[in-house]
Amino acid sequence: MRFAETSLQSRRFLNAIPATLRRNFAGIDLPLRRHPFDTWQNVLKKCTFSPAFRRIAKVFTRIPCYNCGMNTYPDLRLSRLRKTEGIRAMFDLEVPSPAKWCWPTFVVPGANIREEISSMPGQFRYSPDTLLKGVEAVVNQGIGSVLLFGQTDHPKDNGGSQAWNDAGAVQQAVRLLKREFPQLTIMTDVCLCAYTDHGHCAPLRPDGSLDHDAACLCLAKTALSHAAAGADVVAPSAMMDGQIAAIRSALTENAFQNTLLMAYSTKFASACYGPFRDAEGSAPRARPGMPSDRKSYQASYANPRNALMESILDEAEGADILMVKPALFYLDMIRAVREKTLLPVAAYNVSGEYAMLIAMAERGWGDLGDLVRESTMSIVRAGSDLIISYWASQYQRFFGKNC
Ligand SMILES: [Zn+2]
Repeated sequence: MRFAETSLQSRRFLNAIPATLRRNFAGIDLPLRRHPFDTWQNVLKKCTFSPAFRRIAKVFTRIPCYNCGMNTYPDLRLSRLRKTEGIRAMFDLEVPSPAKWCWPTFVVPGANIREEISSMPGQFRYSPDTLLKGVEAVVNQGIGSVLLFGQTDHPKDNGGSQAWNDAGAVQQAVRLLKREFPQLTIMTDVCLCAYTDHGHCAPLRPDGSLDHDAACLCLAKTALSHAAAGADVVAPSAMMDGQIAAIRSALTENAFQNTLLMAYSTKFASACYGPFRDAEGSAPRARPGMPSDRKSYQASYANPRNALMESILDEAEGADILMVKPALFYLDMIRAVREKTLLPVAAYNVSGEYAMLIAMAERGWGDLGDLVRESTMSIVRAGSDLIISYWASQYQRFFGKNC
């Protein structure tokens, strides 16, 4: 009899069924039943059982498989692996250590300036001298790197020439930080938008169109200026065609062949940059022939293949590190880039993503610590190697031992 071959669990189940109903099973070709759960439904479909039997049998569709005898509920209970904090800690992924975090921050010209950015509570604009204190607090938490964004108090122009002023706020800050914190990895954002009079990331031609080729030259000059000040990593964020190749060759030709190049390789035209533009004063303005958004050069969130291609090209042009920005709205893209490259992948948890959690917590709609930890883990799960995040400055508060 076929039933003799079934597992103990299965027999228990069958014995629990009244004999009249059990007889119905004799007509079923049991070996046809395949693992795991849907096959009872298939079996039932082929048989002419009464509606009453169908109702009973439905309850038992999740019994052990006849073929392999694998147990499910009530023997298998996955909640056992989540029962206590200790058990969960054994198997949970770890939050990356602070060495795998990068703190982005803002440098303004002048001295003794430390002003909170209203749309990014807990983040400040620093002059180079006060930045030392800000960075010290971050270094003391073990954070491995900082990413500097600069501003100028000189007149802005079409090409953003103050970006490569060797006496600019970023260049000064890099020199100071390099002297005070020789172990800290110093990264600099390389872009023109905080220095152009129209707020776009490239010079505009007289007809208002964006000049990618001229931008590459300006970006290369800016990167060289940062590298000369001592930056370990230059990070071009302008999303200009060819910018990585231009900067890589400029670095090599000027004896900065060991400077790392982190490409903002898949950077989306996102609505999440609002607080950052507030902090940087870098919102693009409309000009004849050029709208006030960056959709014509930053990646479209509705075209993932084109966005992925940007990262592939930047790798070919000589980037050392690729990046997806923003992070939380683009976890699928972090995963996609991760699967396409063997290079490190950074994720930039942007200002809007920072501000939205704070706003939610302020309204009493969630606990800030829980929100920060959960959202951070999603970036880790997506496959990011380096987390660029404003939360880095509060690492111990949210991820320390006693948080
Ligand atoms: Zn820019």
